[in-house]
Amino acid sequence: MNDASKRSLSGDAAVSEAAAGAILTIDLGAIRENYRRLKARLGGVRCAGVVKADGYGLGAAQVASALMREACDIFFVALLAEGIDLRKAIGTGPDIYVLNGLPPGSEPEARAAGLCAVINSGAQLKAWRAAAHGAGRRLPAAIQVDSGMSRLGLAPAEVETLEGDSSAFEGIDIRYVMSHLACADEPRNPANEQQRLAFERLRAMLPEAPASLANSSGIFLGERYHHDLARPGAALYGINPTPGEPNPMRPVVRLQAKVAQTRRVEKGTGIGYGHAYRAEGPLSLATISFGYADGWLRRSASAAWFEGVRLPFLGRVSMDSVILDISALSPGKLREGDLVELLGPSQSVDDAAGHAGTIGYEILASLGPRFHRRYINR
Ligand SMILES: *Cc1c(COP(=O)(O)O)cnc(C)c1O
Repeated sequence: MNDASKRSLSGDAAVSEAAAGAILTIDLGAIRENYRRLKARLGGVRCAGVVKADGYGLGAAQVASALMREACDIFFVALLAEGIDLRKAIGTGPDIYVLNGLPPGSEPEARAAGLCAVINSGAQLKAWRAAAHGAGRRLPAAIQVDSGMSRLGLAPAEVETLEGDSSAFEGIDIRYVMSHLACADEPRNPANEQQRLAFERLRAMLPEAPASLANSSGIFLGERYHHDLARPGAALYGINPTPGEPNPMRPVVRLQAKVAQTRRVEKGTGIGYGHAYRAEGPLSLATISFGYADGWLRRSASAAWFEGVRLPFLGRVSMDSVILDISALSPGKLREGDLVELLGPSQSVDDAAGHAGTIGYEILASLGPRFHRRYINR
C-alpha cells in the first residue's frame, strides 16, 4: 500500500501481525458509511474529509482513498508536511487545504505540491499573493476568518481593513471563506449562533465566495450552519458528534492486545509498579503487550474485554504492559497469544474517553505506531 500504511518503529516497514503486541483494525467501509450518513444530512451541500494528524491516527492516506471512492474530493490537513505526504499518497486531483496556514517561506513547497493555502493572516495573504505572482498564475486558497474561537483566522479588524480592497486578493483564487466553531458539540450554547452571525458579517466584507463553517457537530446544528461545504473529521471516525445523545455514526476502530503471560497470585501479593494494587484474595492475572508507549493514557480506560467479560486493569499501566484481573474467566480460558479487546463492540472510543476524562479525539490521535494495522472494508 502507500506510505502511511507503513508506519512503524523504523518508519519504513509495516508491523506484522505476528510480531506486534497489539492489533488495530480500521474499518474503511464504516468510514465510507459515516461519510454517506453525513452527506444525507447535508442534502446537496458538499462534504470534505478532515484527515489531519494522520487521519485522527487512523491513516490519512487510507482514509482519504476510501473517501475518494465516495466521490469526496476535498481534504483538510493541519500542517503543510501532512499535505505534502497526502498529495504523494493520493496523487493529483482532490484539493488539499492546510488548516494551520503555510509557515513563512514554505509557499513554493506548498505550490509545488499543488496544495491550497488556508490564509489566516494578512502576512499569509501577502505571501500567497507573492507566490501567485512568481508562479504567473492564480493560486487556490480558503480565507479563514476568526468568528469567535480566537484560534486561527483573520481577526475581524483585519477583515475590515480588507473590505473593498480587491487588489489584496490579486492572483488568489478564493475557493472558500471559512471559519471554525468553538462549541458546536453543545447545541444549546449561544456561542454557536453568535459565531454564525459573526461569520456572515465577516464574509460579507470579503470577495464573494462559497462558505464553510460546520465541523462534525456543526452539521447537526441544522441547515443554517451548512453553507456550501462541511468539514467533518471526528464523525467520520465514529466519534459521537452529538454528545449526550445516541451516536448516529458507525464505529470504525477495534483495538486488541495480545496476552503475553498469565499467572495465579495469592492474597496479599503486590501487583505492578509501586505495588499500587495488592491482591485481596487469590487472583488470576494476564499481562498484555500494550501500555502507555502505545498512546494509551496512564489514566485511560480501566478494563479490557474478552468474549463479553470485563477484565479490570490492576495497578499501574506500564510502558509496554498492563496487568488484567482475569479471575472472572474459567481457568485456562485465556491463554498466551489470545487477544483481548480495548476498543470495539465492548468499549467504544467515546466510552474509553469517558473513563479517562478525555475526548474520543485524544484517544484516537494518541494511538501509537507499534500496532499491526489491519484495514478492512465491511
Ligand atoms: C479539526 C477541524 C475540523 C474537523 O472537526 P471535527 O470536530 O473533528 O469534525 C474542521 N475544521 C477545522 C478548522 C478543524 O480544525
